[in-house]
Amino acid sequence: KAPGAPLAKGDGAPLKKGPSQAPGILFEKVVKRFGQNVVLRELDFTVAPGERVTLIGPSGSGKTTILRLLMTLEKINDGVIRVGDEPLSHMDRGGKLVPANEKHLHEMRKKIGMVFQQFNLFPNMNVLRNLTEGPVHVLGVSKEEAADRGRKLLDLVGLADKAEAHPTQLSGGQQQRVAIARALAMEPKVLLLDEVTSALDPELVVGVQDLLRDIAMESDLTILCVTHEMGFAKDISDRVLMFDQGQIVEEGPPEQIFGEPSEQRTRDFLQAVL
Ligand code: ADP
Repeated sequence: KAPGAPLAKGDGAPLKKGPSQAPGILFEKVVKRFGQNVVLRELDFTVAPGERVTLIGPSGSGKTTILRLLMTLEKINDGVIRVGDEPLSHMDRGGKLVPANEKHLHEMRKKIGMVFQQFNLFPNMNVLRNLTEGPVHVLGVSKEEAADRGRKLLDLVGLADKAEAHPTQLSGGQQQRVAIARALAMEPKVLLLDEVTSALDPELVVGVQDLLRDIAMESDLTILCVTHEMGFAKDISDRVLMFDQGQIVEEGPPEQIFGEPSEQRTRDFLQAVL
């Protein structure tokens, strides 16, 4: 199957049909500080079940921090984050913020897949093992079933012939395809995409973007994407959030944000990147 060919049922990502079964995301008055540096200032936003939302905005404005908070790689200082009905933390009786217990967080993380800028493949494992390791050890899937699904996903991302290859033998674009397949192998409900093409050679960018666009269009996933590629943001999103200095400046459908932005900060940003 050609890269980016339509997803078939059983390929690891659920088909879009009717209302999404995926959880939505809620940020309510979320504060995140690194020392004196207030990165998120009482940030409020939601992503509806099955919605595809892209965060755009200047470097250092806190976009990646939002994804890392969802992956529980960082902890908030105040406010609430929910994925579906599940809070990632709560206030105790004294008003102190307490993270959800580790077992709960582990269950949450299983619902969320993330694709990183730097691929982050397991370098000492071949491509297929990269795809089966999580399902076998975290989800408890049998090795045979994981391998079977892994091969289907490799087929989906156009790398059926690379199952035995090692990550170092692949181009950046191929490594990122493996990383996408690895995220899908965990059958996530929510997919987080963090600058997934910014480490790629220019000629490899479009192929990876097309693949992700097809996955986004044909799956049931809730997607939160951070990108500097405005064409990709336009393609993949139902809604775009323009973000600056820890807060949302403006939001709307891509046609509006890119076509008729109402805020000067959005216009300045778009002029600088387009
Ligand atoms: P963006 O993704 O919009 O470029 P980031 O979320 O990466 O922005 O960073 C937002 C701010 O938080 C920056 O000022 C950055 O220096 C700071 N920051 C991010 N991660 C850390 C960290 N682990 N420790 C200290 N400061 C951090």
